[in-house]
Amino acid sequence: MADPVRTCVGCRRRCPAAELVRLAWDPATGQVCWDEARQRPGRGAWLHRREDCLRAAVKRGGLARTLRQRLSAPDLDRLRTVAAEWPVGP
Ligand SMILES: [Zn+2]
Repeated sequence: MADPVRTCVGCRRRCPAAELVRLAWDPATGQVCWDEARQRPGRGAWLHRREDCLRAAVKRGGLARTLRQRLSAPDLDRLRTVAAEWPVGP
């Protein structure tokens, strides 16, 4: 069976899901969270593990639009903290 293909909300490129990380909205906390197991219900956003993809996803509103949530400043700060450990893409 072929790998599922997902679109990165940052660069909009379609890639095998295995190359992307999943972000999901957690209604319990009202926060965006990293969906490590990729099994959280509800809407998820897929993203390359690259700081510039996260930056584009936030700047262009793709992340908020995909999750259908307004992202708060603390949310974005948390995401950036994680992404700061990622490599910057070419
Ligand atoms: Zn990307």
